[in-house]
Amino acid sequence: MTERETIIKDSIYDLIVIGGGITGAGVARDAALRGLSCLLLEKGDFASGASSKSTRLIHGGLRYLANFELDLVAESLRERAVLRRQAPYLVRPMPILIPIYRDDPHGKAAITIGVRFYDLLTREKDIPHYSTANKDKTLALEPRLNPEGLAGSALFYDHQIRMPERLVIENVISAREAGAKLLTHVKAVKIEETAGDVVVTAKETLSNRTATFRAKVLVNAAGPWIDTVREAGDVDPHKIIYPTKGVHLVLPKLTEQALFVTSRDGRMFFIIPLGAYSLIGTTDTKYDGDLDEVHADRNDIDYLLSESRRVLPGMQISREAILYTYAGIRPLAFSGPGESKISRKHRVIQEGRFGRIITIGGGKLTTYRNMAKDTVDAACRKLGVKARCMTDWKPLAGWLSADYEHYVREEVPVISALFKVSPELVLHLINVYGSRAEHVLEFMDISPAYGETISPDSRDIYAQVAYSVAEEGAKTLADIILRRMPLGMTASRGIAHAERIAEIAGRELRWTDDEKKHHVEEFRKVLEKDVECLKGGDNK
Ligand SMILES: Cc1cc2nc3c(=O)[nH]c(=O)nc-3n(C[C@H](O)[C@H](O)[C@H](O)COP(=O)(O)OP(=O)(O)OC[C@H]3O[C@@H](n4cnc5c(N)ncnc54)[C@H](O)[C@@H]3O)c2cc1C
Repeated sequence: MTERETIIKDSIYDLIVIGGGITGAGVARDAALRGLSCLLLEKGDFASGASSKSTRLIHGGLRYLANFELDLVAESLRERAVLRRQAPYLVRPMPILIPIYRDDPHGKAAITIGVRFYDLLTREKDIPHYSTANKDKTLALEPRLNPEGLAGSALFYDHQIRMPERLVIENVISAREAGAKLLTHVKAVKIEETAGDVVVTAKETLSNRTATFRAKVLVNAAGPWIDTVREAGDVDPHKIIYPTKGVHLVLPKLTEQALFVTSRDGRMFFIIPLGAYSLIGTTDTKYDGDLDEVHADRNDIDYLLSESRRVLPGMQISREAILYTYAGIRPLAFSGPGESKISRKHRVIQEGRFGRIITIGGGKLTTYRNMAKDTVDAACRKLGVKARCMTDWKPLAGWLSADYEHYVREEVPVISALFKVSPELVLHLINVYGSRAEHVLEFMDISPAYGETISPDSRDIYAQVAYSVAEEGAKTLADIILRRMPLGMTASRGIAHAERIAEIAGRELRWTDDEKKHHVEEFRKVLEKDVECLKGGDNK
């Protein structure tokens, strides 16, 4: 916050959005594109909440068919198609194999009907149809599967987004380009609604300065923290969110084939390739703890390990093999009054004494654009503004072409020759930044060292560090390493290079030597929390 922003008495935004996860970033983008003046406040970094803790799938949600949530599946598949069009560099098709065992609680017939129905709901013509296979063919597809009791399998297609954090940044940049103002590390602590406006008191968390902002409408997009934000205002005390915890484990790669596995208790979980690694997850347990300290515990890990060993018995799936874990809270919304029904569907609720507070709960990463649309529609109604949503056709910040393969074929050699870098680096940057890869490479002009690879674990270069601070609002090492570039997802997570990264980031952010040390120490603590639960050996 600048001095000028600390008390804004006269200016009044159409909209203040609380929360810079995928929902809030999507709302800010949609609102700004419709011409509304918009301010977004995020208490940590963009995507530091649930949006960086997902299974990283852009999916229709095959398992929601079991609850007959056809409208949710149809909405998700529709949104999946929009995302494939808008961000093909982030979202990739992925075949997923469901091994079916003779004692499977769902049964072969139910699974086959499910994938067939899913297939029917999929409108994209270029996605291959589902298929089923007998035991031998299944083992040919994935020889590491446990053959004992294996009856066959079903194969269907969904999509993976390796870094949902980047999708959030794409929305942030698009929102900023359309005129929105977005502040990170600024926490809304008090909300006062009057007949004419909403006043938000906010605290800058890295400096403790306080500021006051005014808007005609407030959007509460605080994900799992929605009820905490509601408590800071004068709204109906009924809870909207039913928080459940989901845990993931990251290990060296176990299989090339993505698996969707039924556990002994009938729940389904994924074993998915994630670059050079495998992602195992997730769990789903009611959570009553501190929303700011969500971590895997021993039970979560034992459950995922033992179920994974059962299906891949020949692999070394031990506690010691786990590189790190991450855990998040699903912001599931009660779908009716009271705490009766929980769904993945989203709910837009207009509340507050004067109806100036709009809360968006539930939903998924996959459906964020539609959630944002419904939220901004509600805000427009309150503001008395008629403005059409444009996010279904307006490109995202890094949009490159409707034909990703063609763009890569044509542009990679050109950009590689222009910047005198390898085609592999250009492709890597395109898969992170889309068409903005070239802007990242322009940062190499600042210093020849910026063209150097940071770590042997990833193709990331130091120019990305400078770019993330100068152009993408990163303010701490965790912002830079964990949420702006793939380095944070590797086995080493960039820790060995934290000092040098702090050196480069510190130039932009004007950190003193002591501040650089402090940031490295803080980053170390963040990483430590993701492995603390692994101490104490295996329970095999
Ligand atoms: C384990 C797990 C697996 C999942 N897997 C998938 C999947 O594969 N596919 C899929 O489509 N969906 C998935 N989801 C769901 C999806 O991740 C979430 O629905 C989505 O990310 C929620 O985004 P959000 O912006 O609403 O919440 P968040 O990302 O949590 O954003 C809310 C933000 O609000 C900020 N905030 C809170 N309080 C304040 C305050 N007072 N002031 C300012 N800022 C504040 C927080 O810091 C946070 O960044 C999964 C979720 C989990 C937990």
